[in-house]
Amino acid sequence: MTYREAYDRGSLELKAAEITDFNNDARLLLEYVCKTDRTTLLAYGDREISEDEEAKYFALLKKRAGHVPLQHLTGIQGFMGLDFCVNENVLVPRPDTETLVEEVLRELHDGMSILDMCTGSGCILLSLLNYSNDCVGVGADISEKALEVAKENAKRLGIDADFIESNLFENVEGVFDIIVSNPPYIRTCEIEELMPEVRDHDPFIALNGKEDGVSFYREIIRDAGEHLKGGGFLAFEIGCDQGKTVSDMMKDAGYKDVEVFKDLGGLDRVVKGRKKFNV
Ligand code: GLN
Repeated sequence: MTYREAYDRGSLELKAAEITDFNNDARLLLEYVCKTDRTTLLAYGDREISEDEEAKYFALLKKRAGHVPLQHLTGIQGFMGLDFCVNENVLVPRPDTETLVEEVLRELHDGMSILDMCTGSGCILLSLLNYSNDCVGVGADISEKALEVAKENAKRLGIDADFIESNLFENVEGVFDIIVSNPPYIRTCEIEELMPEVRDHDPFIALNGKEDGVSFYREIIRDAGEHLKGGGFLAFEIGCDQGKTVSDMMKDAGYKDVEVFKDLGGLDRVVKGRKKFNV
């Protein structure tokens, strides 16, 4: 079977299984199995794939047709131009979260300290450290298994960062220039309605924002002040309907310059505010 035939059959199988990006996913799985890239697949469509590759490709297609996320099959998700390892123990990094990283990068200066609360795969913290100089960072997460992934990512990217197992601020020590967080924010009753890739494969604890969806913002805002320097920034990713609620929570807690930013889809996605200087 040639690249071209494999790709065409793969696309058809995924289309029949109602996978939204069937062409894209078939191509990426073929590239993954054949350890090649898009240009080679296109330029050498009549190149034969081996029997082993064929067997592996069709086994993966079957899983993808069963709505296993592409990223769980390849083990990798790109984020902020970096490759992150992912598995079933971490939320797959989302393009929307790049909006949060970009907003924080505007405030991040050489030598600052960062706390990433609910770090998951570590994608936010490690991107911030990668694109800054001499900054130090701590990633906190309640899940030991998620932290294993974050540590692996730090190692692979050659970035120094500390990771601590902590239920929110329970084991966090010290004060930081910036606290950033993409906490779980889906209302429990809405999780059922999510696409199967997310509902059945992202960790439930990484999605579940409890009854009103904003429970983690409430708790983080309540305790962040103790760990934030005067003038330091607290920045959140939010659900697109949570901008007003979360910015009001921050204003009520005394934060200044509270702003809501939109993602590339034009939806509210980030809330950022500054802690008052201690006088
Ligand atoms: N911080 C990680 C991310 O943004 C994990 C977030 C989470 O588990 N809710 O991808």
